[in-house]
Amino acid sequence: MTDSQKTVSFHTLGCRLNFSETGSIASGFASRGYKIVPFEQSSDLVFLNTCTVTDGADSSCRNLIKKAKKHSPDSKVIVSGCYAQMESEKLSQMPEVDLILGNSEKYNVFEHLGEIETKIKIDQTNDFWGAYTTPADFKHTRAFLKIQDGCNYICSFCIIPQARGRSRTISVDQAYKNALELVESGYKEIVLTGVNIGEYEKGGEKLTDLVEKIGSIKQLQRLRLSSVEPNTITDDLLKALKDSGKYLNHFHIPLQSADDEILKSMRRKYTISDYQSVLEKIHKYFPKSAIGADIITGYPGETREQFQKTYKFLENSPITHFHVFPFSSRQGTTAAKLPAHLNNSEKKKRVKLLNQLGDQKIEKYSEQFKNQLTSVLFEQRKGEFWEGHNPEFLKVRIKSNEDLKNKIRPILIESTYSPSKHQMLGKIVLHSQRQ
Ligand code: SF4
Repeated sequence: MTDSQKTVSFHTLGCRLNFSETGSIASGFASRGYKIVPFEQSSDLVFLNTCTVTDGADSSCRNLIKKAKKHSPDSKVIVSGCYAQMESEKLSQMPEVDLILGNSEKYNVFEHLGEIETKIKIDQTNDFWGAYTTPADFKHTRAFLKIQDGCNYICSFCIIPQARGRSRTISVDQAYKNALELVESGYKEIVLTGVNIGEYEKGGEKLTDLVEKIGSIKQLQRLRLSSVEPNTITDDLLKALKDSGKYLNHFHIPLQSADDEILKSMRRKYTISDYQSVLEKIHKYFPKSAIGADIITGYPGETREQFQKTYKFLENSPITHFHVFPFSSRQGTTAAKLPAHLNNSEKKKRVKLLNQLGDQKIEKYSEQFKNQLTSVLFEQRKGEFWEGHNPEFLKVRIKSNEDLKNKIRPILIESTYSPSKHQMLGKIVLHSQRQ
C-alpha cells in the first residue's frame, strides 16, 4: 500500500441482500485502487449500508454513524440503503453524515464522491443491480448471491416495498454466471437471496429453473435459499432443491402470526392451515430439516388469546429457529394507522415468552446431533476455537490449531445446542475414527 492509496471501510446492517450488495460495492472500490480496511480502523471513506425494517434498525443505523465518526473522525461518511432511502431528510441533519445514497444510487457511489455539497442522492428507479459477496468484503465465507430485489406484496406492517420498489430479478443465465464465478473463486456455499425470492420470475423462468441451473454447477458444494414466503413453496421447487443434492437441511419460512385474523389484517397470503401444509411438504422432501421463522408479536389489536394461539402453534410445530420481533410501527404503512397498538412492556413480555420457547425448541432439536457426525463449513477463528455452521444452520465450535477457514470437515458433536452461547461443541474426527 502506498501512502497516497485511499482507504475505505464498510459496515452492513440488515438482511443478506444488503450483505450481497456491500460485497459488490466493495469490489467496485477495490478495482478503483482503494484499500479496504476493517470498519474499526480509520479510513478516508466509511460506507454504511443500512436497514429500516424496524425502529430498532433505525436507531442502530444512527448509532453506527456516530460510532464510525468517533473511531475515524476524518472520514467522509456515506450512508446508503433502506434507511437512507426512507429517512434522507432526518439523516441530513446529522453532522456526521457527508453523503446519503438511496437504494439505486448506492451503486453509483463512485460518481458522487467529489460532490461534497450535494448531500442527498435518492432515486426511485426500478433497475435491477446484480450483487454478490466478493473477497473485497472479506468477512464472509458463505456467498450471498442476489437474484431478486423489491416486492409486489403489500403486507400491512412492511416498509420494504417503499424502500426497495417493485419486484425485479436477474436472469437465470446471469445468476448461473455469477454463481460459477463465486465457486471458481473458492466459495463452497451459495445463499440465493432477495426480498421475496419465491416470486422470482424472468422470461417465464421461475425459481425452480434457477435452482436447477445453479445446482448443476459441479464444484458447488452447498446451496441455501434465504427467506421464502410460504405461499411460494411448491412441490416443484422442493423437488429441484432435493435433486440438486446440494441443498442444505434448512429453510426460512416467515410465519408472523398463527392467528388467521391477524394474518388477514397483515395481508399475508396464507392461512395457518396453509402454513402447516407447507411445513409438512418440506419435511416430506427434507425429513429432518431445520426450519426458521420470523414472528411478529404485539401486532395492533393482538389479543392474549391470539398470542396464545401463536405460542401453541409454535410449541407444536417443527419450527426450530425463532426470529421474534416486537411489532414496530413504520410510518406510511397500513398497520401504523390501525387502532389498539400494544404498549411496549406488553410487547416485550410476549417477545420474551416466545424467545424462551425458541430456546427450548432449538436445544431439543439439537439433541439428535449429539454423538453424531455433522459436516461444518468453518468461517472464523474465535480465540482458541474455530466456528462454522452445519447444514441445519446450527453454529458449531471446535478447538483446533489447523487453519480451517473455508474448509468443510466432518465433526463429531459432543454437546447439545446452547441457546445462550449460540453453539454446539464438537471435535474433528480423525480418519481412523470415521470408519
Ligand atoms: S413479502 Fe411482505 S413482509 Fe416480505 S418484503 Fe414483501 S411486503 Fe414486506
